[in-house]
Amino acid sequence: MENYSSCVVLKNDGGIRPAGPQDRCFCCGSKIGEYHKSECTTLNRKVRVRYSFDIEIEVPHRWNKEDIENHRNHSRWCADNAIIEIDSFVGDDICLCEFFNCEVLEIPEAEPYYRDKNGDIHYSVQKG
Ligand SMILES: [Zn+2]
Repeated sequence: MENYSSCVVLKNDGGIRPAGPQDRCFCCGSKIGEYHKSECTTLNRKVRVRYSFDIEIEVPHRWNKEDIENHRNHSRWCADNAIIEIDSFVGDDICLCEFFNCEVLEIPEAEPYYRDKNGDIHYSVQKG
């Protein structure tokens, strides 16, 4: 017996892909008007993660560990600058994979949602 979600495949469902059949979800095979299967990868939820990057940055020579952490964590320094530092560290020739780690902080209980082709979010829809 297959386990179905409560999310119905829409006519403009994001699971209907240009290269696939136009009457069904590319990921789970359910037709328009049927429920996406619960294992369908188009059904999403929000989770909290911590992304970390182990990189070298440039700081004043006289700064110690406390100075650097205070500047980055408690000053007016904007964390948006971290994106620039990360980009500058790796340059254009290599990717970030070997410097990156993702840690899951929280997976809250939540109803699955899915997106239509416009990117709009839909929660469960009653069939019929
Ligand atoms: Zn599906």
